[in-house]
Amino acid sequence: MSRRPQRRTSSDPGGILVFTPLAAEDRAVRGALRRHDMVRSGMGPERAIAAAEAAAGGTQDGVAVAGFCGSLTGDVRPGDVVVATEVRGPDGEIVPCSSGPLVAALRRRGIDRVHTGPIASAGHLVEGAERAELSETGAIAVDMESWWLAAAAAGRPFAVLRVVVDTPERELRHVATFANGVTAFRALRAAAPALDDWAGALGARTVVLAGPRSFCAGVERAIEIVERALDRFGPPVYVRKQIVHNVHVVRGLEARGAVFVDEIDEIPNGATVVYSAHGVSPQVREQSERRALHVIDATCPLVTKVHSEAKRFARAGYRIVLVGHAGHEEVEGTTGEAPEAIELIERAEDVESLGEDGGRVAYLTQTTLAVDEVAEVVDRLQARFPSLVGPGSDDICYATTNRQDAVKALARDCDLLLVIGSDNSSNSKRLVEVSKRDGCAAELIDDENQIDPRWLAGASTVGVTAGASAPEVLVDRVIASLASLGAVEVVERNIIEERLQFTLPQEVRS
Ligand code: SF4
Repeated sequence: MSRRPQRRTSSDPGGILVFTPLAAEDRAVRGALRRHDMVRSGMGPERAIAAAEAAAGGTQDGVAVAGFCGSLTGDVRPGDVVVATEVRGPDGEIVPCSSGPLVAALRRRGIDRVHTGPIASAGHLVEGAERAELSETGAIAVDMESWWLAAAAAGRPFAVLRVVVDTPERELRHVATFANGVTAFRALRAAAPALDDWAGALGARTVVLAGPRSFCAGVERAIEIVERALDRFGPPVYVRKQIVHNVHVVRGLEARGAVFVDEIDEIPNGATVVYSAHGVSPQVREQSERRALHVIDATCPLVTKVHSEAKRFARAGYRIVLVGHAGHEEVEGTTGEAPEAIELIERAEDVESLGEDGGRVAYLTQTTLAVDEVAEVVDRLQARFPSLVGPGSDDICYATTNRQDAVKALARDCDLLLVIGSDNSSNSKRLVEVSKRDGCAAELIDDENQIDPRWLAGASTVGVTAGASAPEVLVDRVIASLASLGAVEVVERNIIEERLQFTLPQEVRS
């Protein structure tokens, strides 16, 4: 049986085509999506096919499906939003979907129960054992239309936003369905404006990739140390603090058996511990000794160099001004080498707060600061302390410098720079600041699910870089996410080849 899809149209330029299979779904979203072309497509494959055929040849910028679904896993509950990363047909065929910026739009609007993953489309109501089988394929939700409606996109951006009504424990015939339906209706109404945000980001653009970007030699070494320690000694391997400041790296190592702790006293006596790339103070080494820990030191050799300078200056009787961020693990480790001699400052204005010139003053810096800002601080220090001495070579490491220079080389040509890195990554945050100082809007994102579509509205050239602790695979995911919004031309702008490698510590060297 097929029924003519009901269509309401809008001539608004930049609009999308939105399919809502059921009348209740249409009622939930229509207020927020008034400016777009809306089609009430009807329930099930036959009506979805008819609706997609009727919509063929449309000129909207993208196509979306909004409606209800059933969840396939226990942690996707009634009222939760599911954003499809792909829709799967009954024979397993796949249509990729645009998801990242839609997820970001939902979260910005305060909707936290958002799940991403494959949605399976079935030609009939899926229940019981069949539901469990579908779950084993990796799909997280099931509907009866999206796969067939996807045909209407015909190469245009395509998104599916569904809200869960029924679950494996409470299927559609369950007495709870009415109450769950009300919850889902409200959730779908709240989620609908995010589709409007998504629509505003659609369009072709150029993506300029900064090079170098992503992992530096110190981060690669630190991660390899934990991986090898897990292989050699077996889990659990304890890691003091995050091995590098990146949430994806930490989660990946946790899944393999690494246990991240804040302090040494959380580790059982005699266990294996890896020190993070940011280094530790002598006090931490003493605590490890007292607990008879098997220590593997993943401190970056360029951080160790700063520690050596601190000890050298302190031994020679210098007062040491350390330029860095209070509370950062690297700063805590360096300060611990000579706590009586070191005074910490963060910015040029702080120079005035330092005591009188007593003669022998030296400065050191955190390895991941903004090169330009440190130059300003050092100029002020030199003006205040004419006999100031510094490290033999710059403390700001090659990777920090190269990534900042790479951003400067493209910032002026971009409307927006996306910096991939976690919120606690110092070098990633500096890349955002460097870009803004060069007049280019910049945003720090952990991954594609944090790309707010509002940033992309009107941004035809988008730069992408990644901090030294962010894996390159995230760059690929961000590019794919931008490509899901419209055609992209990717241009690489590499300013220098990095070839530096550090040797591994004896304990994990093969
Ligand atoms: Fe070492 Fe620099 Fe990488 Fe930090 S950013 S781990 S100091 S190379």
